[in-house]
Amino acid sequence: MSDTSIDIEFHQLKVADVRPETDDSVSITLAIPEELSERFAHVPGQHLVIRRELDGDDVRRSYSICTAPGNGLRVGIKRIPDGAFSTWATTELAVGDVLEVMAPIGEFTVTCRPEVARNVVLVAAGSGITPILAMATTILRDEPASRVTLLYGNRTSRSIMFHEDLEALKNRHPERFRMIHVLSREPHEIPLFEGRIDGEKLRRMAGALIDVGSVDGWYLCGPLTMVEELTATLGELGVDGGRIHSELFFDQRIEAPPSTDAITDGAVETRVTIDGRTSVVHVDPAGPPLLDYARTARAEVPFACKGGMCATCKATVVEGEVTMAKNYALTADELSAGMILTCQAHPVGDGPLAISYDVHGGIGR
Ligand SMILES: Cc1cc2nc3c(=O)[nH]c(=O)nc-3n(C[C@H](O)[C@H](O)[C@H](O)COP(=O)(O)OP(=O)(O)OC[C@H]3O[C@@H](n4cnc5c(N)ncnc54)[C@H](O)[C@@H]3O)c2cc1C
Repeated sequence: MSDTSIDIEFHQLKVADVRPETDDSVSITLAIPEELSERFAHVPGQHLVIRRELDGDDVRRSYSICTAPGNGLRVGIKRIPDGAFSTWATTELAVGDVLEVMAPIGEFTVTCRPEVARNVVLVAAGSGITPILAMATTILRDEPASRVTLLYGNRTSRSIMFHEDLEALKNRHPERFRMIHVLSREPHEIPLFEGRIDGEKLRRMAGALIDVGSVDGWYLCGPLTMVEELTATLGELGVDGGRIHSELFFDQRIEAPPSTDAITDGAVETRVTIDGRTSVVHVDPAGPPLLDYARTARAEVPFACKGGMCATCKATVVEGEVTMAKNYALTADELSAGMILTCQAHPVGDGPLAISYDVHGGIGR
């Protein structure tokens, strides 16, 4: 059984620092009490789920950690127009506020070993820089023979998050860290550095700036369109899928699911186990995803993005079968171990179905 179980508890953490990064983004440092330091130890690339009640809604969002392990716990938040959490966090959140935070999770990570000498390309757009900054800082610090190229897309130079941190990293490692900014709304004398980072741009860079064949790992973070396009282009350029790692912050194709009230005759009896206790819900295979039904019975069921991206809601199928609309977060190994993202899962067949949030992997479907 893989040891990837999620600590579903929310911990109260005090905001120790709020730093404006750009006109519409901040970075927030959280103070970790001594007794939680082990639980909040992170691997570069992981994120935190932060919960807040806003206008009576239980709002939960994922924010990636931008710091290297050992350098404290800091996240970067960029305001989305009309965004519930990001607007509050970038305008009202202040030092001394207490946030409810889950321990770090996520599989979009790098593990560093000092003897490794690798060539890594990191690609980020907008706030996608947050986990990428943690990765770059850690690789350059902990692997003295490794090289990092960062390809970072933004609208203008004013909208570059962590500008100072990135410059400082460049000054610390001028030989091993290469930073390429691509700006979509600012002209540049070299056209390659203008526009969006898309498949065509990557293809041209591969010819001029990046020796694709020598790259050991590609780490992509940003919106769905960028990640999908770059993954396809890298495949066309002959890069093995095992060298491409990605994380999505936003899936523009998410549609609001129907409500759990509309249960039809075909509802499948489903046992939901969490924290050692089992509850029964009746799930309409054509209705909302399993997560929504599970939450009607058990308030403690973990979730965050509801878009198949963050994996906070993962569980294991113990009996029966499900289908998933999307999966951007589980690996092939996790899938074959029976794991599912409950925010994307619907029963297949007449049931019965049983899922467990306590078991992560090891039970075949
Ligand atoms: C694994 C993971 C890690 C993440 N890490 C970070 C991070 O480090 N920094 C960060 O700023 N964000 C990060 N995000 C995104 C973050 O979790 C929120 O989705 C984002 O802040 C918007 O939340 P909101 O409540 O403000 O907007 P909502 O109220 O949820 O959305 C308001 C509107 O904006 C649209 N929208 C939502 N998110 C986006 C988006 N990212 N881009 C464009 N439109 C959007 C929605 O469709 C909706 O119409 C991460 C997401 C995931 C899944």
